[in-house]
Amino acid sequence: MTYGIIGAMQSEISLLKGNMEQLKAHPLAGTEYYTGLLGGKPVVLACSGIGKVSAAICAQTMIIRFGADALINTGVAGCVCDDLTVYDVVLSQDVVYHDFDSDLLIKYFPHTDRFPGDPELLALAQKAYAALGDPGYRLKVGRVATGDQFIESKEVKDNIVSRCRPDCVEMEGAAIAHAAYISGLPVLVIRSMSDNADGNADVSFHTFETVCADHSARLLLKMLELA
Ligand code: SAH
Repeated sequence: MTYGIIGAMQSEISLLKGNMEQLKAHPLAGTEYYTGLLGGKPVVLACSGIGKVSAAICAQTMIIRFGADALINTGVAGCVCDDLTVYDVVLSQDVVYHDFDSDLLIKYFPHTDRFPGDPELLALAQKAYAALGDPGYRLKVGRVATGDQFIESKEVKDNIVSRCRPDCVEMEGAAIAHAAYISGLPVLVIRSMSDNADGNADVSFHTFETVCADHSARLLLKMLELA
């Protein structure tokens, strides 16, 4: 089993890259793909760049060029639910687009507007969280909503919540889950809350980006050690 691991930003992959063994870099189309072992398991790791298109290109490349059998997206997100706050982590029960017409997604390929998290990866992530002891944040299995926009206003946030009912918002998860879905591969999105997707989101994001990116990455590292 080769795990394809994607972070959108360098901050989201640096802890993982630093823990890799037999690291080998493969530059391709402006992106560095790193193969090697993480937690003793074969992985391909990359920083995709932000947004849906870059994430989808990276995900599909991992599948067809590097033989990824499962995709995991790790990183930070804006919290939009009442029971979590900064530092907490969401695991994707499912992932949706908040900026793509659901009716069209259902009518045309891939004929779904919802990409479920893999039950085995979800169980492994929960086991990893338990194995970390008390890591100082809460874990929730919930909905991730993706779109090509940094959400930093109450109005935009409220609009997304009323339409999609997510627990957090980010900019890559659905594209990665979509790529996994059409190839029949397991997928999981792991996101630590860097901000509350409101008027303070930019300041909060820059304050908590590194520590939250590492929360998500450390949970993923523990998953791979236990896999
Ligand atoms: N304000 C920052 C935004 C960077 S993009 C800047 O100007 O540098 C934010 C990245 O973190 C994306 O990859 C996205 O997946 C995630 N993210 C974190 N908080 C988010 C939010 N409130 N809305 C959308 N994406 C968010």
